[in-house]
Amino acid sequence: MSEPSTTSPPPPTTKSWADQADEETNQTSTSAADETSSLNVNELTIDEENKSLSKSLDDPDDSNITAVTAGDTPYTSATTFEELSLSPELLKGLYVEMKFEKPSKIQAKSLPMILNPPHRDLIAQAHNGSGKTTCFNLGMLSRVDPNLQAPQALCICPTRELAIQNIEVLRKMGKYTGISSECAVPMDRRDSIPVMKRAPIMAQVVIGTPGTMKNLITYKKLGVTKLKILVFDEADQMLAEDGFRDDSLRIIKEIEKFNSSCQVLLFSATFNETVKNFATRVVGKKEHNELFVKKEELSLDAVKQYKVLVPDELVKIDVIKNYIFELGENVGQTIIFVRTRNSAKMLHKALVDLGYEVTSIQGALDHVDRDKIVKEFKDGLTQVLISTDVLARGFDQQQVNLVINYDLPLKYAAEYTHGHEQEPDYEVYLHRVGRAGRFGRKGAVFNLICGERDEKTLSKIEKHFGTYIKEVKDRSVEDYKVALKEAGLLF
Ligand code: ADP
Ligand code: MG
Repeated sequence: MSEPSTTSPPPPTTKSWADQADEETNQTSTSAADETSSLNVNELTIDEENKSLSKSLDDPDDSNITAVTAGDTPYTSATTFEELSLSPELLKGLYVEMKFEKPSKIQAKSLPMILNPPHRDLIAQAHNGSGKTTCFNLGMLSRVDPNLQAPQALCICPTRELAIQNIEVLRKMGKYTGISSECAVPMDRRDSIPVMKRAPIMAQVVIGTPGTMKNLITYKKLGVTKLKILVFDEADQMLAEDGFRDDSLRIIKEIEKFNSSCQVLLFSATFNETVKNFATRVVGKKEHNELFVKKEELSLDAVKQYKVLVPDELVKIDVIKNYIFELGENVGQTIIFVRTRNSAKMLHKALVDLGYEVTSIQGALDHVDRDKIVKEFKDGLTQVLISTDVLARGFDQQQVNLVINYDLPLKYAAEYTHGHEQEPDYEVYLHRVGRAGRFGRKGAVFNLICGERDEKTLSKIEKHFGTYIKEVKDRSVEDYKVALKEAGLLF
């Protein structure tokens, strides 16, 4: 599998996750680095009423996950949660709270590797929406000694939204275990206590973002001597040079200084060759296990991909308004991805001016607003959410059936390509698509394509994943209806 040619690319001035990366950078480069605090997410529980669990699901991950195991430890895939020798409290959490019936493929394969001695490090790749959170949450909850009140499990995620989501799932899943947890994400200045002044963390599981975690560890407020397990969610982003590599490595090094037996788990749906090699080096000192999926098998067949060619940018708004909103209401919630904060603001205003109820989220908003917007969307109070790539990864909302790429995700900002071809951000594209079709549900993606550059970019994406993205040709509601029917969203 060859990576797209990257000969003399323009400087990577924009991070593919511009919003969050900026925010974290700001946080560490200003005196805000001293400020941290934890968040009470108790009121943010996911509203189960809104989850349509009754839909029949396809197997979310029917393609092959190849295992590379170290040493001679035999790992057999589990077909039931009972086979994993989980505690009765965790089994109750899985069945009663989560309402899960049996492990998904990645859960069946990875959990024996995570839970059984010698607790080797693991690099695990599996499709978007296939249940990776459960793998590492069960790993953390199982490995913690409930009688020891000290941090024993850490999970680091690239965005506050993902850290909050993951801790909500952990608390729900671990409801009967009595295991304590804390969410370590940046807080608004007015609510935060300087890290120097805060009490040390006692919670047994800590989930947070890299800047905050790094500060807590540096200022000795988060002890690492009792750590048994360290998880990186969206690990490729966490280890990418233009992502959070520096913070992640600092955290790993700090832990290694005081603790030689901490198990490291790296989870993501995407590991490009560069990051894959780097990840192998990170855990490479010790014998470790790997689970990988072929690139061609990554594109989710459950989510139908379309393109709509528009003559100019303004027509994108017409398409959204006249066709997608017209039908979208009947098919669940929609996320519209844009590339920049400005784009988010502009589109939000345009749609609100037209009388539509939409919300938008981007990294420049203050944290209270960000949390509120996500909560409203998760509770089903809002139907359409405009988002920068801050929600491209990890965000799990089963009712999202439609994803609109208002702009395609690019590796470099247009102003730095100097008329050269645009290089798509393949990983971000895949992650955006993966916001629909969670756990094998149906979904559709509409790529709004304007001009030759966009067309070229999209065909690169098609080539990279070996998929064909069908055009929705004529502009009538009927055509979009046909597309949504084909995607299994309308009958
Ligand atoms: P990933 O991190 O792999 O993209 P998530 O862990 O967010 O996926 O899981 C996607 C969805 O699938 C979540 O809504 C989760 O509750 C659901 N899910 C996970 N595992 C199971 C299971 N074993 N049975 C039923 N639903 C599951
Ligand atoms: Mg995930």
